[in-house]
Amino acid sequence: MSDDDPTVPIVCEDCGTDTRVPISDLRETLDRHNENQHDGDDVAQVAPRIANELANVVAEDMNLDLGSTDDE
Ligand SMILES: [Zn+2]
Repeated sequence: MSDDDPTVPIVCEDCGTDTRVPISDLRETLDRHNENQHDGDDVAQVAPRIANELANVVAEDMNLDLGSTDDE
C-alpha cells in the first residue's frame, strides 16, 4: 500500500529545502521540521502550486468534508 502513497512537495524558503514526502508523513514532517529548525514557526509548507490540489486529494482520500470553500 505504501508504494501507492502519493508524495507531496514541501518547500522551506529559509532552509532552501525542496523535497517530497508521503502524504501520510506530511504533517509530522512539517511539524518536526518547523519545531526543530524554526522554533515552531510555520516556515516549511506544502508547495503553494499544489496546495489547492492537495486539499482536494486529501479531502477525497480521507472522505473529509472541509466545509465551505470559496467558489466565487
Ligand atoms: Zn526550514
